[in-house]
Amino acid sequence: MINSFHKTKHDNNNDNYLVILDGSLGHLKPFLRIMGIPTIISHISLRDYELCDQDNENKKIIFITTGIEVQNILKKHQKKVYYLERTMLLSDVLKKLIPVLIKEGLTIDFSTPRCQECNQKLEIIYDVSDNPIIPENTRKHLKWAYYCPQCNKAYWVGSHWNRINKTLRNVLEELRIKLPEPWQEKPP
Ligand SMILES: [Zn+2]
Repeated sequence: MINSFHKTKHDNNNDNYLVILDGSLGHLKPFLRIMGIPTIISHISLRDYELCDQDNENKKIIFITTGIEVQNILKKHQKKVYYLERTMLLSDVLKKLIPVLIKEGLTIDFSTPRCQECNQKLEIIYDVSDNPIIPENTRKHLKWAYYCPQCNKAYWVGSHWNRINKTLRNVLEELRIKLPEPWQEKPP
């Protein structure tokens, strides 16, 4: 079993990384962000990557679906570039992508999901009873929720979150990557 999960909260170093997906892989963004992976989508233009390069703080890992020429140019610029087939099934893409993330040093960390809007690390609202950023009807059924301190947007474990978690759980199990238990019924 590969154990890529952190032991205590916030001790992973994912903040030092940035995963860049080309536009055709944009559907992977919610999956990566839920696993605490800082992820952005960039259109496939070398100029974008050059602009990204001005940010030298983060190690960048790029996933692209375009041809060999672009891959070669990016590699010549010493980029970490990985090719994924555009037509692959979602679970097959994740099965290729997750081991690369782990190999590159990222941690699969469900306790520090990222905002789906802005990539910021989410925080936890432990008492949702009178929190106005969550709709009143939803609040009644929740014990806790996440929120983004940057967008002031709330997230909670509902059907959408569960669908993403279920897909990831299946993929991680097939990859024989150890899962934290339990991982969604209570605040991490
Ligand atoms: Zn946000």
